[in-house]
Amino acid sequence: MKLIFERSVPGRSSALLPACDVPECPMPEDFARRQALHLPEVAEIDLSRHYTELAGQVFGVNDGFYPLGSCTMKYNPAVNEEIAALPGFTGVHPLQPIHTVQGCLEALVTAEKLLCQVTGMDVMTFQPAAGAHGEFTGLLLIKAYHKSRGDTGRTRIIVPDSAHGTNPASAAMCGFSVVNVPSGPDGCVDLDALRAAVGPDTAGLMLTNPNTVGLFDKNILEITKIVHDAGGLNYYDGANLNAVMEVARPGDMGFDVVHLNLHKTFSTPHGGGGPGSGAVGAKDILAPFLPRFHAAASAEGYVFEDAPQSIGSVKEFYGNFLVILRALCYMRTLGEAGMREASQMAVLNSNYMRVRIAPHCRIATDGVCMHEFVMTLSELKKETGVTAKDVAKAMLDEGMHPPTMYFPLIVEEALMVEPTETESKETLDAACDAIIAILERAKTDPAAVRSTPHNTPIGRPDEVAAARSPKLRCEFS
Ligand SMILES: *Cc1c(COP(=O)(O)O)cnc(C)c1O
Repeated sequence: MKLIFERSVPGRSSALLPACDVPECPMPEDFARRQALHLPEVAEIDLSRHYTELAGQVFGVNDGFYPLGSCTMKYNPAVNEEIAALPGFTGVHPLQPIHTVQGCLEALVTAEKLLCQVTGMDVMTFQPAAGAHGEFTGLLLIKAYHKSRGDTGRTRIIVPDSAHGTNPASAAMCGFSVVNVPSGPDGCVDLDALRAAVGPDTAGLMLTNPNTVGLFDKNILEITKIVHDAGGLNYYDGANLNAVMEVARPGDMGFDVVHLNLHKTFSTPHGGGGPGSGAVGAKDILAPFLPRFHAAASAEGYVFEDAPQSIGSVKEFYGNFLVILRALCYMRTLGEAGMREASQMAVLNSNYMRVRIAPHCRIATDGVCMHEFVMTLSELKKETGVTAKDVAKAMLDEGMHPPTMYFPLIVEEALMVEPTETESKETLDAACDAIIAILERAKTDPAAVRSTPHNTPIGRPDEVAAARSPKLRCEFS
């Protein structure tokens, strides 16, 4: 497509401004621009068509099936967008007098209460802006807890190899050293290896559950006990809580702190990296260390409190308010039964696809999975040369977004499929038919699969060059 600058014609514009009715005021020389500003000059219709054409170049959940595992790209209720767009919520300022924003604080307090019920936690902070930021915050709480007790030898965080990649990264960012614990053949944490790893230097464990191969660790109670017995605390990566909402609670499984991705599970679309919320729930023992600006009810109405031994602020003020608001609407409109049904449907849809695809491709783990499953295409690659990436590219031609590729790292030629709860049986069947057809074609005509995609604006870009040296600016001659 043409760039907006290529559509530009000198002198053309969309502006209809009234004549200036105040005296012109000369700009001080120092501030004056030396060269004319390069702005595209286009009529409104051309501008409108430009953005419509741009929108057509991307693929989102409104365009088709989007089974991007671990990222939960689902269709979210539109009513939550409407609520979050109300002027009473969008027009407030963080420095406004507190008595003028009582409703907003009530929303924060109510969201905290409901999310504490969902997770089995006692308190919650909404300050972190995303999942990994929540992990960092939760680990700071664990660090502050040990420090407050004078227990300063606890410098290590245990992270199973089936954890999300952000877990070891957050632990390292927080100044801990990371101890890796392998999974057993069943895809769950190897308990003997865990027992051998814990000790007086254990600050805590970070468990992604369901883990990155889509399994709920069946030994979860034993795992948290081993860590507690060694004096460590347990951290639950709850980014994918959409698998267990209102079915099981981290707080009941022995976890002391948990982060949620409100932008995955609780109704904020997060394509393009846009504002998220890595809400962190914690047990009472960690409450004294919470980040600042914790909304609470008091005799004088709603107020912001600072915890006595607060770790400080991890972000300005109280987090991405409109994301929290969407989560509140989501919980209020669905209720406990609705949230439970959402999780049950997420798990059912994923297992439905897994069972249909299993005869055509090996699945990384045996038996029932949670909200996502991982295909491994290593045999296909050996037999035909067709890789996971080739299959993903072929899916583009079928009008689907590909699954997550080459993740988790512990599975070879991985495709991680998460259909989500919002898809119908018809959509799932069409997706399964298309994926199975691609896998079969790979066996009879591998070259055809390896040459895909044919129907997309870009086919196979040089991904390293695109990531390392992207051309983001228009060069003017
Ligand atoms: C997405 C995800 C994260 C990271 O969340 P961000 O908001 O991308 O920082 C962490 N853990 C798991 C299991 C995830 O799926």
